Amino acid sequence: MEITFLGTSSGVPTRSRNVSSVALRLTQRGEIWLFDCGEGTQHQLIRSDLRTSQIRRIFITHMHGDHIFGLMGLLASCSMAGTVTEMDLYGPPGLDRYIESCRRWSQMHLHYELRVHTVEPGLVYGDGEYSVTCGPLHHRVTAFGYRIQEADRPGRFNVEKAQALGIPFGPVYGQLKQGKIIILDDGRSFNGNDFCEPPESGRSLVYCTDTIYCDTAIQLAYQADVLIHEATFAHQDADMAHQRLHSTSTMAAEVAAAAQVDLLFLTHFSPRYAPGNALRVEDLLTEAQAIFPNSKLAKDFLTYELSRHRISQ
Ligand SMILES: [Zn+2]
Ligand SMILES: [Zn+2]
Repeated sequence: MEITFLGTSSGVPTRSRNVSSVALRLTQRGEIWLFDCGEGTQHQLIRSDLRTSQIRRIFITHMHGDHIFGLMGLLASCSMAGTVTEMDLYGPPGLDRYIESCRRWSQMHLHYELRVHTVEPGLVYGDGEYSVTCGPLHHRVTAFGYRIQEADRPGRFNVEKAQALGIPFGPVYGQLKQGKIIILDDGRSFNGNDFCEPPESGRSLVYCTDTIYCDTAIQLAYQADVLIHEATFAHQDADMAHQRLHSTSTMAAEVAAAAQVDLLFLTHFSPRYAPGNALRVEDLLTEAQAIFPNSKLAKDFLTYELSRHRISQ
């Protein structure tokens, strides 16, 4: 499970930051899930190590242009490449009509099946291994945050230990694996739990943008491994954050602290903090770290791998 930031600027692109998009690479199944798709996202994909042909699902937070204007170009290119066989899109009400209108007026014919799902708070997608839920955020238009949760995995069965103890191969191995107590013909008994390593907890990622500070973001992000939260403004520009229903870096850090996440990535920075200005994104980081020390700045093409943790018993 690996995230790559493809765009980290709010509203308009700058020289070093494109508009919003984050790719989640599910390494083992060779799939990429995109979160938001601002204009130019397909160019960012081409410049990254990611393969566009692996995109399987796209989740949209809200209908503002800096989060969706890259969709049609990317969907069309996926069709021309002929490497995509199906695609699922998830997003707020209106996404389905937006896609339908663009397809109709540009006479766009896709060579794969495109399904558009209108999301509501709660479960959006689940397949046993991963589930995606969404929660309402507080922005000028309907906006949703997404939580991607991986299921816990049972710990590895220590087959070498069982062999060393002379336990004969057979169905008893399956029973030990399930943590059961077995009795062999020679009278010896073993507890399966002594052969299983601690289970591994599923990883979790939460993506909250665009929004001003809100309790639903805290609920959605509760104890997540990684929270990606917008930080459009610095605290000294909090007036603008309140007017436009965006977050300050302080608000993002407060959400991370209240939700007890492991790591916070700040993103969706206003171009007013681009290099050359009095206040810079590094100042937004300092501001966040004063409240939530494990805060980092997102930047375009930054890749971060989420690691597994053993559940202590
Ligand atoms: Zn935005
Ligand atoms: Zn917005």
